Amino acid sequence: MHLTPTQEDVVALLRDTGALREGHFEDPSGLHSNEYLQLPLAFRHYQYQRTLSVGLARLLRANPEIRAITQDLSVVTPMTGGLPVAFGVCEALRAKRVYWAERDNANEALHFRQFLVPEKGEQVVLVDDILRTGKKLSELKSLLESYGAEVAGLAVVIYQPFPGCASFGNLPLYYLAKLEAKYAVDGANCEWCKSGVPLIKTWI
Ligand SMILES: [Zn+2]
Repeated sequence: MHLTPTQEDVVALLRDTGALREGHFEDPSGLHSNEYLQLPLAFRHYQYQRTLSVGLARLLRANPEIRAITQDLSVVTPMTGGLPVAFGVCEALRAKRVYWAERDNANEALHFRQFLVPEKGEQVVLVDDILRTGKKLSELKSLLESYGAEVAGLAVVIYQPFPGCASFGNLPLYYLAKLEAKYAVDGANCEWCKSGVPLIKTWI
């Protein structure tokens, strides 16, 4: 495998570990899709988590503006799903800090742990396993900026934009692979439902 894994390397790794599945899936929002991705299944294999994190760190380091600030950089992830890759990227980049936001229930805003306060002017890269709707990452960006932190880039292992994915403007976006599943907005408009392909409901 290359030092920075190619799209083909990443897809093969995801299929081998069962993290990327083909079929007919309905997510909690009612969206139907022909592919399902669950990256923690790949992260179970520690060496794969390292391979993906190091690859992502190499993409970030190739940006001269980010390379210039790695010693002072914070790597921040919106929820626990991004933790393996956030810690892996922080180690590979030799960044200064790594931390995460969380929420206790779906209706709550993202927040940091008690006494964790981003500094004014703190340089941050946002890291996550997947970018789909971009909702959590844009909420995290706003949360960090509300403390005066400055977001310098966004890096995800997989870019799988859902219809209506949030825009991050000119913020540099890095990813190891882009996956484009086919979607139907609901069962009534779904070709796989019409052809009777067995449906699997997914939790997230
Ligand atoms: Zn369907």
